[in-house]
Amino acid sequence: MTDQNTSSKDTTQDTNTALPDTASAADTAKADAQSIPTAIVTGGSGGIGRSVCVALAAKGCNVMIGYSGHEENAEETRRLCVEAAGNSGAAFLICRADVSKKADCAALSQAAMELSGRIDILVNCAGITRDGLLMTMPEEDFDTVLDINLKGTFLMSQAVSRQMLRQRYGRIINLSSVVGIHGNAGQTNYAASKAGVIGFTRSLAKELAGRKITVNAVAPGFIETKMTEAMPEKAREAVLASIPAKRAGQPQEVAAAVVFLASFEAAYITGQVLGVDGGME
Ligand code: NAD
Repeated sequence: MTDQNTSSKDTTQDTNTALPDTASAADTAKADAQSIPTAIVTGGSGGIGRSVCVALAAKGCNVMIGYSGHEENAEETRRLCVEAAGNSGAAFLICRADVSKKADCAALSQAAMELSGRIDILVNCAGITRDGLLMTMPEEDFDTVLDINLKGTFLMSQAVSRQMLRQRYGRIINLSSVVGIHGNAGQTNYAASKAGVIGFTRSLAKELAGRKITVNAVAPGFIETKMTEAMPEKAREAVLASIPAKRAGQPQEVAAAVVFLASFEAAYITGQVLGVDGGME
């Protein structure tokens, strides 16, 4: 586990616009207005995770950037966060944590607590694919995908929920996929994990709603990241042709949906799955 801290330029706290509140949301348990909201983003070194970190940084949040390998990519995310934050005074740390390991999830959550004493937002973005047809799929590929994509979401949610319950405030946003809704040949493991994320999201939303903690999922379609780069050209062309918007999505477009669900204004939205898919659904 590696931790390093970089703050954006020093400033007064009232410039931390963070996730803007509104009078109509006054009834909701808002994070302490005096403090900077703190977010944990797993998979923060990846395409979508990086965009989420940067978008949250631009909104004035402290961001704990979780990653599992390639420290240099996590460092780059942190650099971009510092740039995006301007003089908000928010802090950004990178923290190596394998989300399939309970101890790592606890350590990531603890690191966020040490940063600011609270956890306002968790974005479960870590994910992998191990594609293959069922008949030849090694059992290990099924297990690994489920362990990271689904169990990782469970472990991280469990790691932060005690603190969110104490705060009576929290936002959990899980990355699902259109594949978790419609299925896709060659992705039984991935589809099962992402369908599981939806069931998990809807169930946890019901458990936590009374404590003013919302739990939602975002289901991206075909987004340009390392994950989709690896696709064979023919498969890529076929997917692109099936998208009503006639183009791939960008990580920033997913991040915008995540930031909305993480906002104070989204207080009455829970247990939902928001598609970001150019109409694929
Ligand atoms: P990516 O490959 O660019 O990033 C994945 C991230 O997950 C990386 O930072 C990687 O280090 C991290 N990761 C992998 N295993 C981990 C582990 N054991 N512990 C902690 N972190 C781990 O992929 P992406 O496209 O940015 O995907 C982000 C999320 O969005 C994933 O959950 C993915 O399933 C989902 N998604 C992506 C697309 C798409 O088209 N790119 C579509 C639907 C859903």
